[in-house]
Amino acid sequence: MSHYVKFTYERASADTAPFEALVELNACRQKLLEQRLIGVDSNGVGFGNLSVRDGSTTSFYISGSATGGLPGLTPADCVRVVAFDFARNWLRYEGAAIPSSESLTHAAIYESDASTSAVIHCHDSVLWRTLLDRAPTTSKAVAYGTPEMAYEIMRLFTESDVRSRQIFVMAGHEGGIVTFGKNLEDAFGVMMRERRESSPCI
Ligand SMILES: [Zn+2]
Repeated sequence: MSHYVKFTYERASADTAPFEALVELNACRQKLLEQRLIGVDSNGVGFGNLSVRDGSTTSFYISGSATGGLPGLTPADCVRVVAFDFARNWLRYEGAAIPSSESLTHAAIYESDASTSAVIHCHDSVLWRTLLDRAPTTSKAVAYGTPEMAYEIMRLFTESDVRSRQIFVMAGHEGGIVTFGKNLEDAFGVMMRERRESSPCI
């Protein structure tokens, strides 16, 4: 499935915001690229995105749209999301790039869990099939990058054990997995642990 930016967005400033965690984000991205958890699909469309909360605020830094295949990100490839409204499918950001199509998915997690400071969205068809409806799973009827996905994630936070599992599956977005944690290393560790546990014994 291709990724398109479906929300409306408002650029508050084209200046790239200082992004201290960019080194950490690139280090994590490098590992995800090596595992092909982010990258470019057979149609040449980049997939996968990462974000980091800006301190203890509700703002967060996120990789730009269609950056999945880049070897490393510069500050110009990232944006800082400074305001969002799920009902209007709207966000405001600072930066030169266009925010990832899944920015509101990330926002819904930060909004739901104050202890989360990093979110990873990647694609892994094996892990996706293994965890579908076994780990917290968003409704198949809900597509990525929609207000419904944001509400669906908030529902998981109230009705499932997603907070302690730190992972959920997007049933309506094939291969779509999201992990989160107190930092990128934590979120990446969850992804690796789940992959180890789900890998078939051959
Ligand atoms: Zn995706």
